[in-house]
Amino acid sequence: MRKREIKILCPECHWKPRPSSRWACTCGCSWNTFDTGGGCPKCGQAWEETQCPTCIVWSPHRMWYREHVESTDVITTEFPARLGL
Ligand SMILES: [Zn+2]
Ligand SMILES: [Zn+2]
Repeated sequence: MRKREIKILCPECHWKPRPSSRWACTCGCSWNTFDTGGGCPKCGQAWEETQCPTCIVWSPHRMWYREHVESTDVITTEFPARLGL
């Protein structure tokens, strides 16, 4: 069975978030948005777009997840929660 390779990176500049990376919600919560699939763990706000701290561009959260298929990077059609990330 082929192992699925899901990469998380900025669609614009290809910056890769680290486990220590943090995003801020309007409620004051600070967390790693890729741990929760874009949802704030404190107030439950679902962030459909995620800002890259490097290039400052907002991109749809799911655009950050790339699956490596046959030497091409494609946007995965599955949410990462289902993949156990
Ligand atoms: Zn970026
Ligand atoms: Zn919040």
